[in-house]
Amino acid sequence: MAEKPLSKEEEYFARQEFERKKKTDEDQQQKLAAAERERLRELHHMRCPKCGMHLIEIDFRNIKIDRCSHCDGVWLDAGELDHILTDKSGSFLSFLNVFKG
Ligand SMILES: [Zn+2]
Repeated sequence: MAEKPLSKEEEYFARQEFERKKKTDEDQQQKLAAAERERLRELHHMRCPKCGMHLIEIDFRNIKIDRCSHCDGVWLDAGELDHILTDKSGSFLSFLNVFKG
């Protein structure tokens, strides 16, 4: 014997239940995404983006330059390259001297 079709009220409650569960799922996914971002941040913080080894922080004229302990890659934070290039006291040449070879 076939079930009766849902009444409008039952449809409404079924839809509501779906929306509620969907919201819970979305909250869960957002928490996971935040946890994953945090996990990746911890995993990669002060690690070379090329080889994954530790970065060593060097003070250079009030900015922090990160140099890889393994592949010698040099990494700058946002704005630091501009700072080095536009500094009138010849920072760029010193920068090259410190990091060449
Ligand atoms: Zn490296």
